[in-house]
Amino acid sequence: MPYVIASACIDVTDKSCIEECPVDCIYEGSRKLYINPRECIDCGACEPVCPVEAISQDRRVDEEDTAFVADNRLFFTDVLPGRTEPLGTPGGSQKTGPIGIDTPMVAER
Ligand code: SF4
Ligand code: SF4
Repeated sequence: MPYVIASACIDVTDKSCIEECPVDCIYEGSRKLYINPRECIDCGACEPVCPVEAISQDRRVDEEDTAFVADNRLFFTDVLPGRTEPLGTPGGSQKTGPIGIDTPMVAER
């Protein structure tokens, strides 16, 4: 059960969570960060450091934020606007650097 970043991160993006993640699976969009569900090891280290409580295990996401479970996954499996292929599982956000693009759902909020 991977962890998920929900709506509260939008336009906050202080990146405290990135510092804590032992496998570097939290990636930076433009207005929000995204956890790669295929790289997350479910350690929970990121959850308590988020100042706005945006992070939770996917099955514990608040009801109004359940769309963010799929949206975190789509950030990696869909082709993001302006790109030619999906991000997939790049093996760490230090390798990719900030992606600088959001999913359409986040961009439209
Ligand atoms: S639960 Fe652990 S592995 Fe998953 S994103 Fe958070 S810190 Fe990284
Ligand atoms: S700590 Fe919370 S608000 Fe800050 S970037 Fe991570 S998920 Fe977003």
